Amino acid sequence: MVCRYEEDLKVMIEKVRKYTGSGNVADYIPALSKANPHDVAVAIFDGSDTCFSEGEYRKLFTLQSISKVLTLALALMDYGEEVVFNKVGMEPTGDPFNSIAKLESHIPSKPLNPMINAGALAVSSLIKGGTNEEKLARLLQFVRELSGNEKINFNKEVAKSEFETADLNRSLAYFMKQHHVLSGDVDELLDFYTKQCAIEVDCEDLAKIGYALAHHGEHPNDSYSIIPTEIARLVKTFMVTCGMYNASGEFAIRVGIPAKSGVSGGIVGAVPCGIGIGIYGPALDEKGNSVAGMKLLELLSTQYHLSIF
Ligand code: GLU
Repeated sequence: MVCRYEEDLKVMIEKVRKYTGSGNVADYIPALSKANPHDVAVAIFDGSDTCFSEGEYRKLFTLQSISKVLTLALALMDYGEEVVFNKVGMEPTGDPFNSIAKLESHIPSKPLNPMINAGALAVSSLIKGGTNEEKLARLLQFVRELSGNEKINFNKEVAKSEFETADLNRSLAYFMKQHHVLSGDVDELLDFYTKQCAIEVDCEDLAKIGYALAHHGEHPNDSYSIIPTEIARLVKTFMVTCGMYNASGEFAIRVGIPAKSGVSGGIVGAVPCGIGIGIYGPALDEKGNSVAGMKLLELLSTQYHLSIF
């Protein structure tokens, strides 16, 4: 099939822009409310020299929950499956990403999966490093390598804004500390977690990260391994079962691409052995997914037959 990404992406962006009006930007992290709800952008990376990009693709945004995929990969590389899955489960949930409900009703009190906030906090507590600076430096190095962009850093304003308002995440962490899922200082963990979520990228960085995951964890340009194949497989499976919050089932049916979204409006997609996709559209639906971004992925999947099912 001959791909006419440039023309196709232009048409698709225009088609989905109208959906931005039916969503809202996240404002429970005050700094995120500054985003323009009408922005929508896409980048596709197929391993050639440049990305195919359309819309406001140069805008920077924070990873938010997309970072959970990367900390999971790093924790698995640091400790292996046994240690990580002793702390966090493998099952999807129909509850919102920040829900505390299952922590209380499930005994032992172990978060259901690493893509919800409780699970991500448990995974972040595992990242190796003597101090938060060291942990963050390791994570940033990992993200820079996966995207091939040495300039990637975290957004201090967004991190501070979330740290100051993260009472729900704090309560999840305290609950898990009480039940021995976590140890250590909760605010230290929140400091790292909010900085991890505030790592700032653009659509092209995301597309390259998606491409590396799609290609068994290999460097997007130099084809050496950054993530072991087995860990890349495992992470992609979580993206399928839990990547789009409690809309993951419908997303699998409508789109069928391993993907992870974040409340900044970013979505990373990884088509196994195929393209990497980076999406940005900060107007979110009630479950926390980019409204225009979901539509865009549906169009891409249909047009290029990308569903893995
Ligand atoms: N930093 C956000 C939080 O913990 C991430 C949520 C998300 O993107 O789903 O609430």
